[in-house]
Amino acid sequence: MATVTLSKLDKTYSPGKKDSFRAVKGIDLEIRDKEFMVFVGPSGCGKSTTLRMIAGLEEITGGILKIGEQIMNDVEPKNRGIAMVFQNYALYPHMTLFDNMAFGLKLNKTPRDEIKRRVDEAADILGLTSMLDRKPKALSGGQRQRVAVGRAIVRKPDVFLFDEPLSNLDAKMRVQMRTEISRLHARLDATMIYVTHDQVEAMTMGDRICVMKDGNIMQVDEPLQLYNNPKNMFVAGFIGSPPMNFFDGKCVEANGTTYFEEAGETEPFRLALKGQLLSAAQKQGTKSAVFGVRPEHITVSDTIGEDSIAAIIDVSEPMGAETYLYLNTLAGHSFIAKVEAEHAFKIGQTVHLKFNQERAALFDRESENLI
Ligand code: ATP
Repeated sequence: MATVTLSKLDKTYSPGKKDSFRAVKGIDLEIRDKEFMVFVGPSGCGKSTTLRMIAGLEEITGGILKIGEQIMNDVEPKNRGIAMVFQNYALYPHMTLFDNMAFGLKLNKTPRDEIKRRVDEAADILGLTSMLDRKPKALSGGQRQRVAVGRAIVRKPDVFLFDEPLSNLDAKMRVQMRTEISRLHARLDATMIYVTHDQVEAMTMGDRICVMKDGNIMQVDEPLQLYNNPKNMFVAGFIGSPPMNFFDGKCVEANGTTYFEEAGETEPFRLALKGQLLSAAQKQGTKSAVFGVRPEHITVSDTIGEDSIAAIIDVSEPMGAETYLYLNTLAGHSFIAKVEAEHAFKIGQTVHLKFNQERAALFDRESENLI
């Protein structure tokens, strides 16, 4: 069983020194056997450091790392049952593809016929069979990355670790390799841990996604769960493109109705709350709150409706399949709505919006957590 368990895992670079830096802050996470877990987050959030601690390339300064039942904190990288694929491929330029893939096995003194069998099998899986005599320089970026993956496969690890493996590839090749790695996961049935800053990769590849920020885990969930039920504003804003819109304000009572009132001097909007948002508003009382709604959960109309909110179109961005409207509320806050590609709205026009409250959220301004 290749479960990977992080308990209060902590990393401080240069501990005790003036420039010491705590990059990972006591995180708890269980990566299940055969799971594809993606670590995602902005640059510097500690995702690579976490992966490198699992790999044994970075010393663990606190907490416990287990693979299966074994504590791995002080186990040599080569004895952890893992294989890592790097962003820069790390191939040996003077060796053929065969030798690049066979290198680790030769070091381990694996018998020659066993090496050949394993390299041939990996080459077959990755479509590299006809290129095994070539050197890396005679390959495209995508092919090189495949060799790097092949080198991991031949070792038959319990756990594959990927550190931004696709970031040096062009957009088209990235999409292709993304599906290849997903297919590989299904075929090899191994635990895979994958680091990326790209939320599309995270959403499309992960069984579950671990969103990190400033050395902490913000949420761990299945992709759609993260998208539909973010626990805080960071996750809500990080997952989804264009991102969720946020309106600052507070909840107010008037004539027996509870409203969310936008912050602002001139004509702030007031939205009568229903369902889950009403319960959240009652919990929040008069403390500052943030109303969050995704661009696709806003309906834009040129006619005024019951409880509709006015806004002015600033920019229209046709994307082909749909159009993004950049709007301003009358109080001057900007936000984005997705509408059909074919629409008749004009720049500068005042339009009337409905927010789908079943898909919207209220967050506490101070903690930024979902109420
Ligand atoms: P990126 O996507 O940019 O690689 P990341 O989320 O993977 O970001 P890490 O590489 O894990 O981030 O780095 C986390 C933090 O630790 C960063 O602020 C980084 O500057 C710092 N850091 C990384 N390596 C070292 C080091 N060897 N010494 C000191 N600080 C480091």
